[in-house]
Amino acid sequence: MPKHFDTLIQKLSSIPPNSGCWVGFDLDGTLAHYDHWRGIDHIGAPIPAMCQIVNYLHSRRVKCKIMTARACSGQSEEDLKAFRIVMDAWCLKYLGFTLEVTAEKDWHMLYLFDDRALAVKPNEGTVAGLD
Ligand SMILES: [Mg+2]
Repeated sequence: MPKHFDTLIQKLSSIPPNSGCWVGFDLDGTLAHYDHWRGIDHIGAPIPAMCQIVNYLHSRRVKCKIMTARACSGQSEEDLKAFRIVMDAWCLKYLGFTLEVTAEKDWHMLYLFDDRALAVKPNEGTVAGLD
């Protein structure tokens, strides 16, 4: 596990169960290995450290959602349906349960894990980890 794993778990342990809040996980490059686009029906191998965090939160009854552009409003209905089938199968195989999929934040999102995001310090306009 990454050296910060225990610290992260400690931070996430403060989320109350069944609160209605949720934690978002990007798919490609975050939950699943990604190197290049292979089609809507392909999802890469699971990334164990991230899947372990999802499993931890799920076990504590904290809602997790997959947050991916693959579910964005620009997708065709056909591709959305195809993706959903593959996504559910991937979740069942590697997590043991399915997850809600979204491409949209809402007021109940507490955290987002994303390989492209830069963490901004609240109200400072600076990026965490670069100083
Ligand atoms: Mg990504």
